[in-house]
Amino acid sequence: MLIGIDDTDSPAGMCTTYLGAVLARRLIREHMRVREARLVRLNPNVTYKTRGNAAIALDVLGDADRAFAIACEIVEELADFSCDNTNPGVVVAEERLDFAFYERAVTDFCEIADAVKLLDAAGARYKGYKNRRGLIGATAAVASVLADKTSEILVYREPERWGTPRAVDRESLFAAEVATFPHTWDTVDIVNGVVVCVPHTPDPVLFGIRGESPAWVMLARSMVESEKPDIEQCWVTNQGTDAHLRDGKIGELQEGLSYRVHGIVGDEPMTGAGGHVSFTIKDGDHSVRCMAYEPTKNFRSIVRELVPGDDVIAMGSYKKGSINLEKMKVVTLAAPVITRPPVCSACSKRMTSDGTGKGYKCRKCGAHASEPEVREIPRTLAAGWYEVPPTARRHLAKPLCRGEPE
Ligand code: ATP
Repeated sequence: MLIGIDDTDSPAGMCTTYLGAVLARRLIREHMRVREARLVRLNPNVTYKTRGNAAIALDVLGDADRAFAIACEIVEELADFSCDNTNPGVVVAEERLDFAFYERAVTDFCEIADAVKLLDAAGARYKGYKNRRGLIGATAAVASVLADKTSEILVYREPERWGTPRAVDRESLFAAEVATFPHTWDTVDIVNGVVVCVPHTPDPVLFGIRGESPAWVMLARSMVESEKPDIEQCWVTNQGTDAHLRDGKIGELQEGLSYRVHGIVGDEPMTGAGGHVSFTIKDGDHSVRCMAYEPTKNFRSIVRELVPGDDVIAMGSYKKGSINLEKMKVVTLAAPVITRPPVCSACSKRMTSDGTGKGYKCRKCGAHASEPEVREIPRTLAAGWYEVPPTARRHLAKPLCRGEPE
């Protein structure tokens, strides 16, 4: 069976992945076999999300009625029901659900009624609490088929420490990154000198290490020194896979979806208030603004080097009329030129214009020239892929260390 859970936390605490890790241990104690623990990130632009729009699914061998009862018991025990925006959902399905629902949940928006229809059709056991919105994520997690996957080991805190400052040794995190990159990523941001894998919210997570396989994340994890942890769970995830992106065309982009978009830079990038950098890209008569916000740090200096005419692929979510850049490919660089009057070959003086369309004239000797001097402006930017730094990376965005997008 697959057990799906979502929407159990609030800004004040809890985390659906922690609840899933506790559930896995209770099921094992009941002599059930937990074959996989899966963590899916869904559409990052869903406004109801508490933090990273995560949902979990456990692949379990055992009695489905008993597992459903235990899952509901744990949600009732641990979910933060006090928050208006916490609407848990629990699903236990013994049949595969249509994976199109997962695809929609990660790239688009879903309705609670559609999740319920799918669950009824599959004869699944399910329970939605309060407004039942968590059934969307729980159903999507159970329906998920991961074409590409990565691993994350999440290390949780002892309950009595929740809400207090976390003690994780900074040097050991940098050492773990150096020893295991590119097989693990985003533990720290070396260029910006920032620890990325330790949250600052009052939830049960102490830190999480992301990477290509359980073996690599566990190796990095073994190098980390910290306060005494509680339980740890290694998750199979869709993080770092670009599962949220779809091909888009400028002029046809929809609010809240995430895209790969091809276009030609239309204007000089501008740095606005707060250090946010913006420029437009065009496709025929249509154009769209691209944004590199201040938290994308050094990525902005790449963006500032674009000039009109550069051919680019922009990747990111389309929100309020802008693509919020996660990654960008400079396909070809424009070759900007400056033109000015030529130098007179007889007296080495720069000529002046002789009137519109009349060429150039030397004021000293009267010589004429028809063509201007044309000089290419050298570019420091190279064609290729560029990405935001680890500190600004979204959960679903595929880091370039995993390979360049096709
Ligand atoms: P948690 O750890 O509790 O899962 P979170 O940041 O992952 O925290 P949630 O609290 O789960 O966010 O809130 C997200 C809500 O949005 C859930 O109720 C989920 O079912 C719903 N949801 C997720 N994806 C979609 C979608 N594509 N369309 C509509 N609703 C969605």
